[in-house]
Parts: sequence; structure tokens; C-alpha cells
Amino acid sequence: MTTRAIEPWTGLLEEGREDGRLVREAREGPGRARLVDIPSELHPEVLAGLERAGIERLYTHQAEALRSAWERTTIVTTGTASGKSLCFNLPTLDALCTDAFARALYLYPTKALSQDQARALGAFGLSKHVRPAIYDGDTPREARADIRRKANVVLTNPDMLHVGILPNHAAWERLFSQLRVVVIDEAHVYRGVFGSHVANVLRRLLRIAAAYGSDVRVLLASATIANPVELAERLTGLEDVGLVDDDGSPTPRRQIAMWNPPLTDEAVGARRSALGEAGELLARLVREGGRCICFMKSRKGVELLARLVTEELERTHPELAERVAAYRAGYTPQQRRELEAQLTSGELRAVVTTDALELGIDIGELDAAVVVTFPGTVAALRQMWGRAGRRGKGVAVYVAGEDALDQFFCRHPEEFLERPVEAAILDHESPQIFQAHLLCAAHEGPLEPADAEFLGPRFQAHAEALVGAGLLRKRTAKQGHDAYVLRRPSDYPAGNVSLRSSTPDSFAIVDVSSGELLGQTEAARAHSTVHDGAIYLHMGRSYEVRELDLENRRALVAPFDGDWYTQPKRETDTNIERLLDRRETLGVTLSFGEVSVTETVLGYQRKRLADHAQVDLVMLDLPQSTFATQALWFELDGATLTGLAGGAAPPRGGEGPTRTAPAPLEIPMDALLGSLHAAEHAQIAVLPLIAMCDRWDIGGLSTGAHPQTGGPTIFIYDGHPGGIGITRLAYRRFEELCRDAHRLIAECPCNSGCPSCVQSPKCGNLNEPLSKAGARIVLEGMLAATSGAPA
Ligand SMILES: [Zn+2]
Ligand SMILES: [Zn+2]
Repeated sequence: MTTRAIEPWTGLLEEGREDGRLVREAREGPGRARLVDIPSELHPEVLAGLERAGIERLYTHQAEALRSAWERTTIVTTGTASGKSLCFNLPTLDALCTDAFARALYLYPTKALSQDQARALGAFGLSKHVRPAIYDGDTPREARADIRRKANVVLTNPDMLHVGILPNHAAWERLFSQLRVVVIDEAHVYRGVFGSHVANVLRRLLRIAAAYGSDVRVLLASATIANPVELAERLTGLEDVGLVDDDGSPTPRRQIAMWNPPLTDEAVGARRSALGEAGELLARLVREGGRCICFMKSRKGVELLARLVTEELERTHPELAERVAAYRAGYTPQQRRELEAQLTSGELRAVVTTDALELGIDIGELDAAVVVTFPGTVAALRQMWGRAGRRGKGVAVYVAGEDALDQFFCRHPEEFLERPVEAAILDHESPQIFQAHLLCAAHEGPLEPADAEFLGPRFQAHAEALVGAGLLRKRTAKQGHDAYVLRRPSDYPAGNVSLRSSTPDSFAIVDVSSGELLGQTEAARAHSTVHDGAIYLHMGRSYEVRELDLENRRALVAPFDGDWYTQPKRETDTNIERLLDRRETLGVTLSFGEVSVTETVLGYQRKRLADHAQVDLVMLDLPQSTFATQALWFELDGATLTGLAGGAAPPRGGEGPTRTAPAPLEIPMDALLGSLHAAEHAQIAVLPLIAMCDRWDIGGLSTGAHPQTGGPTIFIYDGHPGGIGITRLAYRRFEELCRDAHRLIAECPCNSGCPSCVQSPKCGNLNEPLSKAGARIVLEGMLAATSGAPA
């Protein structure tokens, strides 16, 4: 007799299969644990500590990481809950027990994660040898001197290292002169603008440690990404990085479900909201006895969803309604521990939360992990899914939203599930970021030729530029070579550099209700993100801008609870400053280079959250702003555009447009602009499939006749001043970008464009004009040009 276990999710999935909402299922695992003996070379005290912690054997990857860490820089990228911390804790504990003077530095992107790690280090009962201390903005002033003197594991964050520790390295002499290990956990977080900064902070760290005579071993851990070794090298500037990615921990039997809310109106592409769908799904899982965690991007969404689930349960199972909670950032460690304990005991059945990393949530595994809308990267999604698998089995659900990428994935579920995770990119030499950190480095010690070992071979050229700008001074050192020092030695350059912004030219964002400084935004983006009346999202929370104070360079905001959001209307121009690379492909001339982007924010649209309907359009009077960045652009000629001539009718039966000799084109300007504009949107929508970024990190411009190219041209540019390598990667993988963009459009069932294909939530022209059919013809023409190319 065979019995099939009824799991909390069995009925739900059956229903989804029947009505088609379950677009794809997959199974993972189970995988057995692979264990090895604990290497006997470890210091006897560490061996005793492991015994106290109840660890008798190691997973294969933990032993492998230990051996690799003894040899070289190492990055570990095994799955969620695979015991990754032990991979870097073992070599660290070994170093600290072996040498009583040795010091270690741990870097975490958030406070909560530092706190978790400090606790984990305490669990080995090695207090005689291991004295961890957290050093961050919250550390009381009177405790600081003590930490500098006594702690031999300092847990901090990149910001504190940058602005508090490195500039005051003399006070940290004990740390720097005995620094043996630097641990960089959650390394995948250090990408984009933030990563480009952190890469500079780490170079400064290694430079200072070397100046004090320390030989440092750098150990990194990351979620699964496409390029772990490259990320480790780019972050640290070190070479010969060892990779440990063969996970020896047991994996549960995990059922994966891709869930698409039903269409309510096919012609305009409207679907039931992901929120409503997720609410029902969660209530159902809780009723069936499941313990669940649910992830959403915004705090507002988290609160709405928790309320939906509670209400749904109140109707059917009131005794369960109180066992659902929204989990917010900003809890004290004590509050978090309590919630985690309640979830582990089953007192709580479901928790709805924003990004787990922000919270440092530590709850082990649950029955169900539900991710509502695409979290931005496949890497993040897999990490969240990794929470499912209590007692060896679980269900991981992805509820798709209406965004272009969400729906693209629903149409290509097999590709989605097998998709390699994205590459994390950063560029430590992005000029403004690099030069800002050169000033910080010069403050920490004169820049000398030998510093090229840490700062890279091109640092001198940038230092010269800073001399030209009057910020550095060149002096001849005693040894006869040149050195660069600050022109004004009393300056404190780190104080002017925010690691979250690509330029020191920034606006402060101040919450007027509390007087709290929420953060900074790049001046180049201030007009479009924090103009008067803008709804601004910060850490998943909404604020309304009361005033953009141009003179004092700050935006005054207040918490916002309304039901609309804003989209700026703006006019953009691009000017090509420098061509860096060019190639012919897909029948177009494709270029990569430096551009300047000039933008005028004309006003903004207020739109209802529920259905994106326009509430009103408010005009603004703001000056122009300009920034320099990197871009790719491509010029389309007559041959590629012939399909558009004569009314832009879509080709029949999927055949491509006929390619004839370039004829004098008679394409109505509106049709041309709408087609280029929609093609540009589609390309930007799918760019995050190639590079780990957000569509908000990218800008675009399409024009029927660009003054410099003289013809129809589409620009895609890095949205941050200086650029951080996004469009450089897109330039290299342009063909893939066009193929994905074409599929996005061709496969969307809507009639003339919808939020799931060519409409963009950030379009400066408020999605006017857009021609879905025309964009399809343009992209088909380009893709046909490859197949027609001579072999
Ligand atoms: Zn569509
Ligand atoms: Zn647009």
C-alpha cells in the first residue's frame, strides 16, 4: 500500500494545476549531507570549542573552505542555511587561538547581521581567546577606546570602516598592526554604486594594514551569483582567489511553484493583483497547518498583505488570525529573538517581511517560503526560497506581479528555473568614486608609486587630475620619488563621501517629523526623485517630499500614508563626449562611450497605487541638471527600419520583414518615435537579466534624429554619474539583450502595450508615444540581420 503524504500545500497546488495559475512546478532535492572529519591540524582550543558547540563533523565545503583559507583569498558561495559562517569562523578562530595578539575584522552590510555573528562567535565558549565587539554608529563613545584596545574581533560595516576607522588608523594601531583576517560576508550586496565604493574602502584597508606590516588573509562569503571569483577580485583588488561552491550540506525535498494571478482583461494586460493572490495563498497554507514566511519588496506591501491574511483568517478560522505577523526593520535584537522563537515554536504561523537580509532574520527553515513579485534578481529569489524545507521538505512559491520581468518569467518558466544567476558588477575606477577615495587615501597617508599595488596602475593619472583640481599637492619625498598629499591637510575627505551615492555632489534627505537624516541622493537624480510632492521610497517605507530646497541641497520629507505614487515628466538630452568602442552587429552601428545627460524635470504625474490610473499632472519649475556617465547607443539605418514604412503593420505569421536595399524611407515620425521608444523600454526592462541591477539604475533615450549621429538612435545609459559598468556589460552582450527584448514584446498577449511589456513605470515621457507593433518590427529586423549575415 502506498500512501501519499498530505502536506499543507498539496490541495493548493492541485487547485492551481487545474485552473492554470500554477504555471510551472519543479522539484529540488533531497540531497544527503556529505560529512568529513574535523581537520586535526586545527588548534586544540578550536577543536574543544567545536565539541562544546556540538559539532562533531564538518560538511565537505566547510573543510574545503578551511584548507583554502589557509592558502589564499577565498570566497564561499554555498546555499542558504548551509553553515557558511563556519567556513570563515574556523580559520579565524584558529588564527586567534594560535596567536594571542592576532586581530580579525568582520564586515557586515547591516547591524542586525553583525549582532547575529557576534552571538555565533560566542557560541564556541572561547572567551579566553576570542573577544568580539561590534563597532558601529551605535557604539557608545565611552566604550570605543576599550574596544580599540581589547577586542580581537571587530565587527563593523563598510561605512564605519570608511569614515570612522580608516581615517583614524593611528588610534587603531593594535588592530592594523596585528590584522590577520578580514571577513567580508554577504559580499553579493557590494555591487553597483555601493560595491564600487566598498571596493575602494577595501583597497584602502589593505593598504593601511600593509603599512603597519600586517599580512592579511581575506575571506568572503556570498549568495550564489554568476561571477563569485570575479566579484572577489574586483572588490579586493587581489588575485588568485579560491572558490568553494560545492555545497555538502543536506538539502530538503523542495517543491517549487511559479504562480501567476489570472488575467482579468487580456487586451490591456490586466491581472488580479499579486497581493490579493498571495493573501489567499498564505491564509490557505496557514489553515492547512503550514509555517510560512512571505517576502515583499515594500513595507507598505508587507503591512497590507499581513492585514489581508489576518482578515481572511478571521472569517474562517479566527483562532489563527492572531498568529500572523508583519516583521519590520528596526526591531531591537531582543524583539527579533522573540519573534524568531515564536515562529520556531509554531506560536506564530506566518510572518510577512521585506528583504530578510535587512533584518538579519534567523529562523531556520519553514514549510513554505512565498516570494511576492520578482525581487530583482534570481540570486535573491533563490536565497529567499532557501527558507523552505522544515523537517526535510517544503514548498517555495513565487507569485508573479504584472511587471515586464515577472510576466517574461511566467512565459519562460523552464528558463527561469534553470537560469544562471546574474553577475554582480561594480567598477572601483568609476572616476568620481575613485577620485573621492584617493583623497581619503591621501589623508590616511601620502600616495606613493608603490601604492599602485593596492590602488591599481592607473591611480597616478587620477591623482594628477586631483592636483589639477587643486585638491592634492605633489611633493618630492625623501626617497626621491613623488608623493601626493592633501592640499589642505586639515581636511577630512571621508566625511564628504557617502558610500551610497556615486558622487559627493548630493542632497540630504531629512524627515521633518523626526528631524532624522534618512540618507543622501545624488544631485543629478534629486530633481527627478525628490522634487516637491514626490513620493519617495526609503528602506521600503514611503515619504512625501514637502520641499526640495535647492539652495541648501536638501529634501524635506514626511512619512506618507496615501494611496498614490508619482512619476516625473522630464525632458532628456544626451551628448556623446567620447567614443570608447564600436562594432557592427544586427544591422546597426553599436557604440559604447561617455555621454553627458541633461535633464529638465517638467512636472509629475500622481497615480493611484491600486490601478495605476492617473490622478493628476502637476507642473514644476526646476532648473536643468547635467551629469556625465557611460552609455551604449545604436544607430538604425533604412534597411533595419523598412518594416516600419507604410503604417507599421505587424508582419503576418511571424515572418520577418523583407530585407531589401535601403530605400528612401517614408515612415511617419510618430510611428518611428513610438517604435524606437518602445524598443528602448523593452531593452531596459530585460537588462537586469544580464547584469544585477534595477531598471531604476538605467536610463534611456530614443530619437528620430540625434544631432550627432544624424539619424534614428537609441541610447541606454548608466543612471549614476560616472557609470558603474552596467551598459559596458550590455554593450558586450547586446545580441542577447535584443533577443530577450524581442521575446518580451512578441510574447505578451496584450494588444498595444501594457506594464508587462513596453510600458515603463519610470518613463520621463509618461509612456508617450509607444508602438508595441513597431518595436517588434524594429527588433525583428535587427535579429533577421544576424541570420542573414554572411558566414
Ligand atoms: Zn503587453
Ligand atoms: Zn520612455
